[in-house]
Amino acid sequence: MDRIYLDNAATAPLHPKVASAMRRFEACFGNPSSIHREGQAARAAIDEARGKIARFFACKPQEIVFTSGATESNNLAVQGAVGHAINHLKIKPHVVTTELEHHSVHSLIKELVERGAVEADFIRPDRRGMIKTRDVIAAIRDNTVLVSVIMVSNEIGSILPIREIGKAVSEINQRQTHQIIFHTDAVAALKYLNCNLDKLGADLLTFTGHKIGGPKGIGGLIIRSGTLLDPLIIGGSQEYGKRAGTQNTSGIIGLAKALELLGSLEDRQSRAAATQDLRDYLIAELLKIGKAELNGPIGQERIADNVNFSFFGVDQESLIAALDLQGLAASSGSACVSGSAEPSHVIAALGRKPGAVLRATLADGMNKAEIKKAAGIIRAAVRKLRQ
Ligand code: PMP
Repeated sequence: MDRIYLDNAATAPLHPKVASAMRRFEACFGNPSSIHREGQAARAAIDEARGKIARFFACKPQEIVFTSGATESNNLAVQGAVGHAINHLKIKPHVVTTELEHHSVHSLIKELVERGAVEADFIRPDRRGMIKTRDVIAAIRDNTVLVSVIMVSNEIGSILPIREIGKAVSEINQRQTHQIIFHTDAVAALKYLNCNLDKLGADLLTFTGHKIGGPKGIGGLIIRSGTLLDPLIIGGSQEYGKRAGTQNTSGIIGLAKALELLGSLEDRQSRAAATQDLRDYLIAELLKIGKAELNGPIGQERIADNVNFSFFGVDQESLIAALDLQGLAASSGSACVSGSAEPSHVIAALGRKPGAVLRATLADGMNKAEIKKAAGIIRAAVRKLRQ
């Protein structure tokens, strides 16, 4: 049976060109911190990759810190910013974030609040799943050191007003001595949106490889010059002293290749337009099922590859399992907590009544026949489970 894979936001297959770029560097085994020829070859490969990634984000190469993925990048951003405030400013810091964040920001900040280390406000989305800049800005206090807002919700696809928030935070920073750090998790935005850091106005930006055809276990945090963070992992002086540990050379090469393959902003926008048509077709087909609601916004406010529905009167796990048996891979939301009986904090924040949540995330280059087939499988499974 031909499988239909609609869980590209959980992870995407490794792009064959990424795999071959990584293979070409198999001989590059030296430690990039060693001064001999083997070490220098690895260092040169990393420098080249860093340069490519810097071009993608329009930042300086030395502003990129490689990590084990977006979970670590988000931890470095949040713990680094609040750690710096606690250790050097000697204050109890306040953080502004949202109910749409990935667990690596949301659960982390909740945990820091429970430990009594920080104060925090979690901005709630409106019913469409959008966050308003003015709500974020209104939550800022005298002891706010960090504003962390996801660029695109990995669960419900809302595209948040990062530029507007960045501008508003920088205006506040111009009027005060201590600087509020603005962080955004751009993982779900990389495929289609403009990630030029000057335009976004973010001080910290999280990215990862495995959602865009790159390898797993490699990502990065961009730390704009002058942004003060305490490191999370302490040891050697790798990554400008911001992240100790021997770099993952082949992973870094694969990550740079995956970002390079996304192409120019124009390329990404034209792929987004095609994928968005399929997304809207799937949404229209699923709305016909009845007793179902789309989670997240419609049109241009929604990222091109995301569909998220609540089906009422259906058991969540039974739905995903039934789809799998029929050859369709989809999920109920973030893969990081699948298996947990708790409903997603993102869906809960929309104020929906309980139902089975289905997130289907598309890949570029899919065709209408596949999406039509997927819609048919979902319709049949929901009907059967409701009987
Ligand atoms: N942020 C977002 C928005 C994500 O979707 C994910 C992956 N589910 C992460 C962070 C964590 O990424 P990684 O798997 O690279 O740790």
